[in-house]
Amino acid sequence: MTCLKPEANGPGDKGTDGDFNAFAAMQPRAPAEAPKEKRNGAAVKANDVQPGGAYLPNYNILTPNMRSPDYVQMSTAAAITLGIMPGKMYRCGCTRCLNLLLTYPEGCRANCAYCGLARHREAERDYADRNFIRVDWPAVPMEQVIEAVAADGDKTPFHRMCISMITHPRSDEDTVTVLRKWRERIAHEIMPVSILSNPTTMTRGDVETLHDLGADIFTVALDAATPELFDRTRGRGVNSPHSWKKYWEILNDARDVFGAQKFGAHIIVGMGETEHDVLSLVQQLVDMGGHSHMFCFFPEKGSLMDHLPATPRDQWRRVQLARYLIDYYGVRVEQMAFDEDGRVSDFGLATSELDTVIDAGIAFRTSGCPGKFADDISACDRPYGDSPPSDIASYPFQPAKKDIVKIRRQLGVK
Ligand code: SF4
Repeated sequence: MTCLKPEANGPGDKGTDGDFNAFAAMQPRAPAEAPKEKRNGAAVKANDVQPGGAYLPNYNILTPNMRSPDYVQMSTAAAITLGIMPGKMYRCGCTRCLNLLLTYPEGCRANCAYCGLARHREAERDYADRNFIRVDWPAVPMEQVIEAVAADGDKTPFHRMCISMITHPRSDEDTVTVLRKWRERIAHEIMPVSILSNPTTMTRGDVETLHDLGADIFTVALDAATPELFDRTRGRGVNSPHSWKKYWEILNDARDVFGAQKFGAHIIVGMGETEHDVLSLVQQLVDMGGHSHMFCFFPEKGSLMDHLPATPRDQWRRVQLARYLIDYYGVRVEQMAFDEDGRVSDFGLATSELDTVIDAGIAFRTSGCPGKFADDISACDRPYGDSPPSDIASYPFQPAKKDIVKIRRQLGVK
């Protein structure tokens, strides 16, 4: 067995090497509601600037009046890969997931504390100009996206497309339209589709419709690992409409409708849960037949948690490794050991086996829906979505030898 000895700092300590983000320390700021004239995209709708093709976020010019299903936003990495934006990503040529985000002048009506798209930002920044997982999201006509992907055919660099819903009254219907239009031109064999759902507005019937239209994988962004954290960061704590119960209702529907290995949940690590909390949830998802997709908490600029520390790397690496062992290596959370603060102190695996997993490096890559390489290699690599390139949390590429040395140091294993 491989035993770790995390440094014995108590709950409430934060932000330095050798400790963890404890619940008491991770309190979001209280949100303020925007003045009336700034709500619901009022300025964008009043100015009514007509879009002319792709729009690259620019806070200094009037934001065009764009809405799904005609327009979608995409990550900076996807826009670079598709040739819509110039640029390069540090140590990775392109992204293998085409993340498409629904867009409306009114924006997302939820107020999640860690999210750059949250409603409280409407006082400060138009929706299409807001940063999300650390990057800008250019808006592009849906037809242009489909044409570009169809033109590449089986030469496409993308392994998967993902439609990200937001909390908006039109989100369910427009997701169906985007998926239908996509499926008319792009075959499943060329690029399977994932749905990043918004349970708050959805019914089981919506889940079935998306499955019948050919969506491959359905995910639910629980994001928070416990009901208390969920309520604090996505529910009543920040005047946001989401509930743990509703998210689980749709997650269970996804299991029934999409089936084993075809559903999953997003979890953000380091918002105040313990390592034992998050890994128990990972085990629960595996026992249901699903997967977990992990994100390292990063204080998103402009969010209600932008004053809080990113997840210490030792906490993150332990959870990344343990999650990989549970998801893909048959180790159970009950075989692992935890200290009095809920930190992993033993991964439940012989040292030589653990060394093999660490050195393979896959456990430390970005996790998400699979691409065309292997079941445990995510198509969704989200380059630098949860860390700066100078201190990588989720590796968007295969870690090299020097990266493994650093990971071992962060894990506290030789
Ligand atoms: S529902 Fe999703 S997009 Fe909307 S604020 Fe919450 S995390 Fe952000």
